[in-house]
Amino acid sequence: MRITRVHAIHIEASAWGDFAYREDDLPLVTSMSIFPQYKHPISTWRPEERMCVIEIETEDGLVGTGWCEDYYQTASSIVNGHLTRLLVGADSDEIGVLWDQMFRATVPYGRKGAALYGISGVDIALWDLMGKRLGEPLFKLLGGRCRESTPIYASHLHCIDEDQFCAEAETYVERGFPAMKMRFLWGPADGLEGMHRNVALVKLLRDTVGENIEIMADAYMGWSLDYALRISRMLEPYNMRWIEEPLLPDELEGYTILTRESPVPIAAGEHEYTRWGFEPLIRNKALSVIQFDMGRVGGFSEARKVCAMADAAGLPVCTHAYGMPSLQLATAESACLMVEYFPIPVWMEDTERPFFDGAPIPTDGKVRLDDKPGLGMTLDLPGYSSSA
Ligand SMILES: [Mg+2]
Repeated sequence: MRITRVHAIHIEASAWGDFAYREDDLPLVTSMSIFPQYKHPISTWRPEERMCVIEIETEDGLVGTGWCEDYYQTASSIVNGHLTRLLVGADSDEIGVLWDQMFRATVPYGRKGAALYGISGVDIALWDLMGKRLGEPLFKLLGGRCRESTPIYASHLHCIDEDQFCAEAETYVERGFPAMKMRFLWGPADGLEGMHRNVALVKLLRDTVGENIEIMADAYMGWSLDYALRISRMLEPYNMRWIEEPLLPDELEGYTILTRESPVPIAAGEHEYTRWGFEPLIRNKALSVIQFDMGRVGGFSEARKVCAMADAAGLPVCTHAYGMPSLQLATAESACLMVEYFPIPVWMEDTERPFFDGAPIPTDGKVRLDDKPGLGMTLDLPGYSSSA
């Protein structure tokens, strides 16, 4: 069906829902923690969270919707200023060809980063459109349900106070989450004492949740290879499912050495893009768990290719962040282990509410999608009303 309109709308909201605002003042080690002025909080350096919603309309009046991050209107400018030229007038069903054209046309300034946000958002909208046209949920178009429901892990646990931290972890156990992820708070700038405090916090989490819950911890690119190698040996007794993103995304050699030497599995990929970005990570066995983000990797089209490569190498996939794109993919892709969810910690005075794209609140640590066509979502965002 011929595409008649493509429009990216810049919105003053975060693609991570309320999580990004909650995290603004919470402690965690980051890629900037080596600089004292940016050590804490993350809002001292992180760009303001913005997103764009991309609507693609075809001549029959159907509208597909996708979204992505939109820092400084980069992605929305690329979609409205460049990608529309390739899309308007084209056949919306030819998603593979359109993806290749968008990627090749943006190579001079793209390949990773904002151009791939835009391409991902367009790809998600095209898949949504196809699902709506066929009256089928995307997981059916992607191969059908591969499991009755998708396991979901709780991702928060920034420790301000140890009692609060333990109480938070206990609520995730009570709510049936099979796994949970905490944040490391210290890195190389905090010396050996910080390293011991990181290890003590993992021990506290393990002691709190018992032996039958998977635990993970995120280092948000805040460590060095040397630091990660040392601490991974100290963390061995706690049977962690993974250590997340200990190094910068481009440290292929570092990740390869770390994954070979570390007694704890290493996960990363939320800041990596496309099949070409993941291929050397998979070929070199540089990771134990692959963690692309649907709004960065290139949308459903590219996520499927990375899943196939990871699966062939025996590596599980665990998508970054919550939302309907992740849930639709994980419902159909057996390579997907579980999906990340951002619960509201029990010690914050707030109540759980559905994610902005309408993705369901997990029950008993899992989600089962219904048969609503396309992405099966309704966006609830400030300053946006859908024309779908
Ligand atoms: Mg992470």
